[in-house]
Amino acid sequence: MNIHEYQAKALLRSYGAPVSDGRVVLKAEDAKAAAGELDGPLWVVKAQIHAGGRGKGTFKEADAGEKGGVRLAKSVAEAAEEAKKMLGRTLVTHQTGPAGKQVNRIYIEDGSDISRELYLALLVDRATSRVSFVCSTEGGMDIEEVAASTPEKILSFSVDPATGYMPYHGRRIAFALGLDKQGQKECVKLMGILYKAFIERDMEMLEINPLIVMENGSLKVLDAKLGFDGNAMYRQPEVSELRDVTEEDPKELEASKYDLNYIALDGEIGCMVNGAGLAMATMDIIKLYGAEPANFLDVGGGATKEKVTEAFKIITSDPNVKGILVNIFGGIMRCDVIAEGVVAAVKEVGLQVPLVVRLEGTNVEEGKRIINESDVDVIAADDLKDGAQKIVKAVKG
Ligand code: GDP
Ligand code: MG
Repeated sequence: MNIHEYQAKALLRSYGAPVSDGRVVLKAEDAKAAAGELDGPLWVVKAQIHAGGRGKGTFKEADAGEKGGVRLAKSVAEAAEEAKKMLGRTLVTHQTGPAGKQVNRIYIEDGSDISRELYLALLVDRATSRVSFVCSTEGGMDIEEVAASTPEKILSFSVDPATGYMPYHGRRIAFALGLDKQGQKECVKLMGILYKAFIERDMEMLEINPLIVMENGSLKVLDAKLGFDGNAMYRQPEVSELRDVTEEDPKELEASKYDLNYIALDGEIGCMVNGAGLAMATMDIIKLYGAEPANFLDVGGGATKEKVTEAFKIITSDPNVKGILVNIFGGIMRCDVIAEGVVAAVKEVGLQVPLVVRLEGTNVEEGKRIINESDVDVIAADDLKDGAQKIVKAVKG
């Protein structure tokens, strides 16, 4: 789960991290009052979307030479003007994809003077199963680009969970970033703060790009991107409240209400599968026979008829779906439950595209009987290969 920059900064501020004062604005008419509450003489007006690269992004239908999603202003009036120009429009960055994202919130911040822009991140390193620090002197730009062209400018190391954060970790980062005495001291403290927030709030990723050194030598968090472990949200009520559902795929949002593991993809074949491993295998074999999956969907082991019905509705609501493959290996999940769900869903929402069903395992005969006795137009498949070939053929001809 991701949150907005202004929410991330408020959270980090509550842990004692240095961030600028700022105000979030939802309506254009509030922009002037919000900017007026800040000191100046520089204001930064920032589009709030769950994607990076806003500064270099471009708005749809932008005027020639129009600035991106991060704009500097020299007065309250100018800041309010820039906020008004951005609200409600669609911003395209290298992280949003060509469709872009609509800007519904603007953050107006007290501008900072910048001496150096640095990069800092904390993330869960799957290889070492530890939390890692990543830092670089090349902040403010695309870190992927730095990693590709000058990997020697990136330092990363992991923290032993038995000791947790230690001041020498902070000194190692300060040294790599070339900080002076004051910077080193602040760095050791800030890294401790960030590590504590990361662990306590079940984060998956914390990225500060840029972390700046100001003219007076102090550090400041100028941009902040936080990602949280969705599976831990039951014990993070304050974080859960920060969720902005308008930033999420509506199909994924609907699926999460029914506890379905659903990820929307770009292909044409909708998949309903039980078990993450079988779901992956199903996606692979669809690709093998020349088509693309429209989604990943694991209905889980203990799915009910209602859950299966909802899953089916979500798949058919995707206009890209040109065919559906139901592939169930009944272990804990019973084939008759799936069959009942499929039949109920088809009766409710109708079936506009070919449907291939492959059932195997517990209560398979009962499942097949339910489908055969319904008047649902199903193409039956014997095994995974047969199912994939049949749905690809039905879609591609
Ligand atoms: P991003 O483009 O989405 O990563 O947004 P950032 O918050 O990182 O801002 C992009 C760039 O805008 C930064 O790298 C800075 O160069 C510039 N910027 C952001 N805030 C300030 C500020 O307070 N003062 C100045 N001078 N520049 C800023
Ligand atoms: Mg940034």
